[in-house]
Amino acid sequence: MSSRVIGRGKCSKCGREGSVVLKEVSGRIYVYIKHGREWCYLGPLERVDLSSIIISVRDYHTFTTKLAKYLRVKLGDVNMKVSTPFIIGLALLLAAYGIGLGGPGYSNYVLAMILLSTISFLLSIAVYESTYAKLQGYSMLSRILSKGLKLYIPLTIVLTIIVIIITIPLKTPLKFEFTCPIPSYVKAHEVEVTIEEPGILPGSRVSIGPVHSVTGVETYAFIYMAIPISSIIIASLLITYLSRPLVNSLKRFITYITISTLASYLILFTLPLIVHAVSEDISIFMEATVVNYIVISTAMASATTIAFIIIFIVLIAVLKNVIRM
Ligand SMILES: [Zn+2]
Repeated sequence: MSSRVIGRGKCSKCGREGSVVLKEVSGRIYVYIKHGREWCYLGPLERVDLSSIIISVRDYHTFTTKLAKYLRVKLGDVNMKVSTPFIIGLALLLAAYGIGLGGPGYSNYVLAMILLSTISFLLSIAVYESTYAKLQGYSMLSRILSKGLKLYIPLTIVLTIIVIIITIPLKTPLKFEFTCPIPSYVKAHEVEVTIEEPGILPGSRVSIGPVHSVTGVETYAFIYMAIPISSIIIASLLITYLSRPLVNSLKRFITYITISTLASYLILFTLPLIVHAVSEDISIFMEATVVNYIVISTAMASATTIAFIIIFIVLIAVLKNVIRM
């Protein structure tokens, strides 16, 4: 009986990584995965799809160089296929930034570029999953996921908020606008004309001014914020990508998408108000109009994002079928 380590692999039995070991017993070869002291038996060589298990063939010198060569060529080949649509997607996104700088008159072109770039990114996910995933899978994302959704969801929320903020300059014809009137504690006679200041987020602003009503003059602060549809598309794309390793468990998948989306927008829409409240009075969050605005804005932006995510998941499935043809 002899045994040989042929490389690192992801166990199809328990999901952990380990050394892939081939054991020869009276002329037949059996596949095992060794996790430290524990062993998992996967079956006779002819019944195990090695290409779906092996992650790296670093220890190939202990086995035949032919297998290593075969895997290297396959990995190299797929790398090219995945990177092409990815680079095209990136190029289109950068072009959208370039056109966006031309002014609001170009917003239709920006939207067209964002949509093309989104399709390119979805294509690269589809290519990756229909070929490369068998060899490597989403190993980096899976490693973070193995620490649980409690870490993965906050990480997604932080990334989503960053992505939305940096894509706000990509103005498109459609946007979610949010104007929240808050009673201001500045005395009416101190503010005779409306003062406008930039808000904390790009595209947001605060204006403080008098509002004449039947009961007299009162000062109000208006907090304005707009999230263009381009930011929502790109955020949906990010969440779709990050959710791919979860796709096999429907319950975790739905939990992940719902919580990540809702929490991201809740923070985004509340942030300008918190900043304002610190300088005014924290009790603004007790105002019915403020709560209303937060709930409605979060719900609408989240519903749109989840709709995009569903469309993207369907598109990936369609693209995967097209690639296999
Ligand atoms: Zn195992």
